Amino acid sequence: MKYVMNLLLLMVLGLLTATAQAGKYPPSTVSMTLQQVSDRCYYVQGEAGTAIENEGFISNAGVVVTEAGVVVIDALGSPSLAQLLMERIREVTDKPVVKVILTHYHADHVFGLQYFKEMGAEIIAPDGAEKYLESPASKERLEERRFSLEPWVNEDTRLVWPERFVEKHDVIQVGDTIFEMTVIGDAHSDADMTIYVKSENVLYSGDVIFEGRIPFLGSSNTRLWLETLKRMDSGDLKALVPGHGPHQEAPVKAIGLTYRYLAFLREKMGEAVDELVPFDEAYAEADWSGFRDLPAFDAANRRNAYQVYLSMQNEAFAD
Ligand SMILES: [Zn+2]
Repeated sequence: MKYVMNLLLLMVLGLLTATAQAGKYPPSTVSMTLQQVSDRCYYVQGEAGTAIENEGFISNAGVVVTEAGVVVIDALGSPSLAQLLMERIREVTDKPVVKVILTHYHADHVFGLQYFKEMGAEIIAPDGAEKYLESPASKERLEERRFSLEPWVNEDTRLVWPERFVEKHDVIQVGDTIFEMTVIGDAHSDADMTIYVKSENVLYSGDVIFEGRIPFLGSSNTRLWLETLKRMDSGDLKALVPGHGPHQEAPVKAIGLTYRYLAFLREKMGEAVDELVPFDEAYAEADWSGFRDLPAFDAANRRNAYQVYLSMQNEAFAD
């Protein structure tokens, strides 16, 4: 009798779980836990791995619960993962998701968008994301993932455009929670943006923290980038949530190499611009020994230095 009761109990539990998981998209089977980093700020952490491992759950998504609704930061790599994230959100609030803010448009952060869009959430992205959306590369990537991440990414998965673009810097208020969005430029993707939740002192940094190699600067705004890193380094932050990997708690010292590198480039190239020293000369004179042995130095350093030299010339004229 006891055995039958247990069996019945298990069946009821199974049914309840199945109901909770019921949704439009194939239910994800990965483990996903909502971690709290401050009063209102949470995130889920993807597993380190290649893009097609762990059902595509390799990146993080942020969750900020305000009294006027939930703001999600990045939408994960499939509608199924977004659906699972929603179940986790329901464990802490019954408020609707009103906005999704994207740090950048890369497949592992955006294929969950349609789930939130169908709910009526407003989607906000950095200016420049349209370059990715309009590119053949974005369509090819979707095609490739429909194959490699089937059934999580399939024929029904689509690229969703934002309703609103942030040009350089923008502030929005949801309830009484303030979100400061700063576009760094194309540091890592066609456009990268950080989101600072002011009242919570929590920064969602996206993928702009590189460790262990020389970053490719592209045409990013190194002044804004360095300012953002400075804020991270100041120790004022309660927590820093990156686009991948675990969050860091204050005092945040997550930025080491990237910070040192950008600060050095801006110092040396800034001096050269001030003293009207030609680029070639300034480049030859700079002591690169602190960075020369790092991966990607040969591929990236000279181009990076030149980009910073030119942009600091422009900054000098703009002042
Ligand atoms: Zn990423």
